[in-house]
Amino acid sequence: MDCLFCRIIDGTIPSDVVYQDEYVIAFRDVNPQAPVHVLFVPKVHVSRFSRLKDRDVQTAIFRAVSEYTEREGLEEDGYRLVVNTGAHGQQTVDHLHVHLLAGRQLQWPPG
Ligand code: AMP
Repeated sequence: MDCLFCRIIDGTIPSDVVYQDEYVIAFRDVNPQAPVHVLFVPKVHVSRFSRLKDRDVQTAIFRAVSEYTEREGLEEDGYRLVVNTGAHGQQTVDHLHVHLLAGRQLQWPPG
């Protein structure tokens, strides 16, 4: 299986890593949709949340987001978390990731 994010995790594809712990890596999106656009990715390969059964990893993803948003001072103005899932969600990389979008006024609803 050739997974783009697994190759980023193992270092064979370079990325701009902004956060890392035992379970999670976070790096800047190459095609940012906001001034801050970071992807939080479990180091274990899993395609979507419903297939992620490890509670330590589930918890770690949200802990990583919180630590990063607090560290970067994003709590006051706010941000958006997005998980595109499957065809209707327009998921393009089949390795679970949480988009963090911040740094500008976001619009709602999405398209
Ligand atoms: P999604 O469409 O929700 O599956 O999100 C995949 C995201 O990965 C997109 O926002 C892409 O811009 C981003 N992306 C693709 N390749 C890379 C890469 N090499 N490094 C960082 N982000 C990437």
